[in-house]
Amino acid sequence: MIKTGIVTLACFTFISGCSSKESINEKSSVDGDKKLHIVTTFYPMYEFTKNIAGDQATVDLLIPASSEPHAWEPSPKDMANIQKADLLVYNSPFFETWVPKVEESLDKNNKTLFIEASGGIALMEGTAEEEDGEDHNHDHGHGHAMDPHVWLSPALAQKEVETITAALVKKDPKNKEVYEKNSQDYIQQLKSLDQSYRDSLKEYAGKEIITQHAAFGYLTKEYGLMQVPIAGLSPEEEPSAARLAELKTFAQEHNLHTIYFEELASPKVAETLASEIGAKTKVLNTLEGLSKEDQEKGLNYIEVMKNNLKTLVETLSH
Ligand SMILES: [Zn+2]
Repeated sequence: MIKTGIVTLACFTFISGCSSKESINEKSSVDGDKKLHIVTTFYPMYEFTKNIAGDQATVDLLIPASSEPHAWEPSPKDMANIQKADLLVYNSPFFETWVPKVEESLDKNNKTLFIEASGGIALMEGTAEEEDGEDHNHDHGHGHAMDPHVWLSPALAQKEVETITAALVKKDPKNKEVYEKNSQDYIQQLKSLDQSYRDSLKEYAGKEIITQHAAFGYLTKEYGLMQVPIAGLSPEEEPSAARLAELKTFAQEHNLHTIYFEELASPKVAETLASEIGAKTKVLNTLEGLSKEDQEKGLNYIEVMKNNLKTLVETLSH
């Protein structure tokens, strides 16, 4: 069944090149008993939602798995997909900054439910280190004063899963029991991850970690570490000589031997700093994306977070 009425709605006022061909390939409904269709923005939102939905819903990942989600913007085709979906699950308007614009642009009769997974979590402000740079935008243009990286704390990830679960139940109450059961199972995994973090990091309380970008504020706060991000920096940018000197002194005074860089961004800056102070570099994955290859290797949020913990323990222990 082709719903031609959708065609005009797919044209949003701030996208000029909108073509009516976009919505021709629309999915037809499955029997009379349609499955919930959920669009999620970037990888952790996808994994959390998928684990709750199980087989009861179709869950799509909007932002390609190995893209940096910060600078990403939806195409007219993405917009049409969002508009046709039952739910859009995103992390925070401080991360997917395009979401409020899209939500406002939708027709009043549109049924897509927008779920801010971090809603209800008190966000922290960006760190002082981020704000003393020339560019007040957090590195690659989140453009945020508030820190949106809540998913990197397994404790807060549980809250996001609860928020997403409530939304699925609201939109599809007949599958309430399934969603709640799946959700509980996944939350158990997050709880045991949270416990491993608490147990393993206890003895390193108060230790500083120098990270490429300020993604680990909630994680470090939750488990008693201190994040020192390389300031106001996009992956392509060079830190100022003054900032490098400051970090160099800091690392030496605090006896830090590791600079952490991330998967999707160039390690050049972290490597420069590491070589300046004779430190090694290690990956801490921000999960701002997870490549297809990594997913095929069986990596997922839980496994990547276990690897991050292993890296932290190995590097903090000497
Ligand atoms: Zn970020």
